[in-house]
Amino acid sequence: MSCRVGCGACCIAPSITSPIPGMPTGKPAGVRCVQLDDDNRCRLFGDPRRPNVCHRFEYDIQLCSDSREQALRILAKWERATQ
Ligand code: SF4
Ligand code: SF4
Repeated sequence: MSCRVGCGACCIAPSITSPIPGMPTGKPAGVRCVQLDDDNRCRLFGDPRRPNVCHRFEYDIQLCSDSREQALRILAKWERATQ
């Protein structure tokens, strides 16, 4: 399986400590990244300003599960467990 187009759960649920264009101190958990567009696609895809952590995050069935809603729940739980 591969990343669900239009999901974007990993751009909302987890915190990101790296600077993101428009979010210079990173992104808190549960907050939508400003670079996530209305179709839940990254505006910085292919752009060198996209944080490395975003490049490194890949589809993982354990985290992404089989729906956006489940991924949001699992990623939020994972975020709390790793705080
Ligand atoms: S949570 Fe998983 S399926 Fe959803 S956008 Fe991120 S990598 Fe893709
Ligand atoms: S920069 Fe793109 S991939 Fe990274 S969290 Fe924001 S929208 Fe998602």
